[in-house]
Amino acid sequence: MSNQLSVQGFHHITAISGDAQSNVDFYAGVLGLRLVKVTVNFDDPTAYHLYYGDGIGTPGTALTFFPYAGGRSARTGNGAFGTTILAIPEGSMGFWEERLASKGVSAIRSRSPFGEESLEFGDVDGFAIALQEKVTKEPVRWEGSEVPFEHAIRGVTTMQLHSRSGSSANFVVDQLGGEVLDEKEGVVRLAIGEGNHIDLSTVDREALSGHGGIHHVAVAVKDEAEQEAFHARLYEQGRHVSPVMNRTYFKSIYFREPGGALYEIATLGPGFTVDETLTDLGAGLYLPPQYESHRAAIEANLPRLKLPSGVVVGG
Ligand code: ZN
Repeated sequence: MSNQLSVQGFHHITAISGDAQSNVDFYAGVLGLRLVKVTVNFDDPTAYHLYYGDGIGTPGTALTFFPYAGGRSARTGNGAFGTTILAIPEGSMGFWEERLASKGVSAIRSRSPFGEESLEFGDVDGFAIALQEKVTKEPVRWEGSEVPFEHAIRGVTTMQLHSRSGSSANFVVDQLGGEVLDEKEGVVRLAIGEGNHIDLSTVDREALSGHGGIHHVAVAVKDEAEQEAFHARLYEQGRHVSPVMNRTYFKSIYFREPGGALYEIATLGPGFTVDETLTDLGAGLYLPPQYESHRAAIEANLPRLKLPSGVVVGG
């Protein structure tokens, strides 16, 4: 199997959140992302699965959440991904500083070990986010956003990863086709895909899962054939890798890196318009065919949720 197999950068980030309404209000409201899909966890239809992104949920812009009310908060640490760093257009830092302050979100300016200025804050559950000005591909415009397009979030640029394992960097190089770019202040910067980074470091505590914690980070591959090649290589090298799962909007395989964090490799297509029109994305509760005949019972079990479209779903 060729070592030239390389992923195309981030596809989506999936995290656990608390209250679903607070999550919608934060990501669609404060951050101005488009809620591109409101559905249930396909493995557990008693919980929502909320997807946000640019106007069409382009891979690389997608943040997804499983809201579970109750339970503990996550703690960042070794064995998990840390801060999610989102790109904003050059010259937008001041806009975001003012916007977050006006929404009661406290944010601090900091500088990454690699010299980038960051604006760091947490969502309502403490999910750690940083904004950095970057030149990126233009996202798909979302006219329904409160955030003017010239300041709109451009997608995930860098993920922090905390690991105690000495093999986490090699894993990115050998299995994902990444490259070590730099090392500063104990942080190893790895490049994956075009312009995306994983900033790897060891911290002094272990991660705990919970609200505000990342469940997995998905990286993108072109198609199913390429996914199969990654799958075969992982399998040949003795990695425990899941079978291909059909997630409707993409196909996925899952595996853990040596430090314990969970990666997914997801196909670019078919995308979020496979079961809803572009106009209708996220406007109501979408149920996959196996659950549609149980819609009333499923909705009754889900918490009431007012969507940006004005539609109210859940019980
Ligand atoms: Zn995923």
